[in-house]
Amino acid sequence: MNFKTLSVHAGHDPQAFLGAVMPPIFQTSTFAFKGVGEPGPYDYSRSGNPTRKALEDCLAALEGGVRGFAFATGMAAETTALMLLNASDRIIVHSDLYGGTYRLLTTVFQSKGIESEFVDLRDRDALKAALRQGAKAVWIETPTNPLMNLVDLQEVASLAKSYGALTICDNTFLSPYFQRPLELGVDIVLHSTTKYINGHSDVVGGALIAKDPELAERIGYLQNALGTCAGPFDCFLVLRGVRSLPVRMEEHNRNSLALAQWLEAHPKVEQVLHPGLESHPQHALALKQQTGFGGTFSFRAQADDAGIKRLLGAVKLWTLAESLGGVESLIEHPATMTHASVPAEVRNQMGITGNLIRLSVGLEDIRDLIADLEQALDQV
Ligand SMILES: *Cc1c(COP(=O)(O)O)cnc(C)c1O
Repeated sequence: MNFKTLSVHAGHDPQAFLGAVMPPIFQTSTFAFKGVGEPGPYDYSRSGNPTRKALEDCLAALEGGVRGFAFATGMAAETTALMLLNASDRIIVHSDLYGGTYRLLTTVFQSKGIESEFVDLRDRDALKAALRQGAKAVWIETPTNPLMNLVDLQEVASLAKSYGALTICDNTFLSPYFQRPLELGVDIVLHSTTKYINGHSDVVGGALIAKDPELAERIGYLQNALGTCAGPFDCFLVLRGVRSLPVRMEEHNRNSLALAQWLEAHPKVEQVLHPGLESHPQHALALKQQTGFGGTFSFRAQADDAGIKRLLGAVKLWTLAESLGGVESLIEHPATMTHASVPAEVRNQMGITGNLIRLSVGLEDIRDLIADLEQALDQV
């Protein structure tokens, strides 16, 4: 079946649940045994829950994996994936990525003996050199948050495979509607379902989807052993959100591209970082490995710190908040908000400058979104 059909139906069969068209919320911690040594299909909700299974099966179908796993947050999904590694293992990590991932690797896993080496994965020779020194895994994020740089998934996955390293791709920004890393050779896809998958800014959640049954088995073991799973009510909400993923993504994509084009022509804008623009240095790669550009991008305003503060204080329709991927439009300042956990020196090296602003373009009328940004840019 095709993607839009799977979004609406995958993971749930009404006949298995008394005809309920929507999957019921199994808000139960435990399940009755039929007798000693005779559990039913479920025994305890950390190990498995029917509402969670409906979401997990749906996500596996959308990403083209053998199994999906739902977690309490995106970070819980990341923690579980990193637990596939052992002390003294090395992981190669794209040098430009979500601030929380950077923090988890450098402050939590580093001290447990898992060494991260940050490499610009756009540089094939640098990746090769790092792989030659031995690595268990390669962590990819594309497009990157908030700089919108792309990594060639097919190239990195095949190179990593030739050195026996696993590849994990954070696919939060595009969702499987616009990018399917497993089809390009990646081993594990990760999501913060908090973002586009749920899409309504009312849940925090995460997911992992694996392509190989043996690897899926190991992730399932860790999900149960670590207890990082999502609760049934959150799973119900995320599944409710995912049913409309294709229509939301189409509209996010349309609005964000129109806004990026408008900003690019604005005199107070220095640079727009949007892979759908011809000015983006990796526009060709975006066209090759993505079927759309999503709804989140960044721009640099021609403004000093005070001007940026005035701009962010002047927006009325746009909400100043972290996160992305919801129906409402959000604006944020990476240097002091989402990426404040990255040291200033590293931030500047990456290009997360003080005049960089990230937009999560929602589903409002584009004319209202432009009008509000226009009056805010006038304050700069
Ligand atoms: C938000 C986010 C995460 C972390 O997810 P939480 O649900 O906030 O724990 C990881 N990766 C990316 C790209 C994100 O945007």
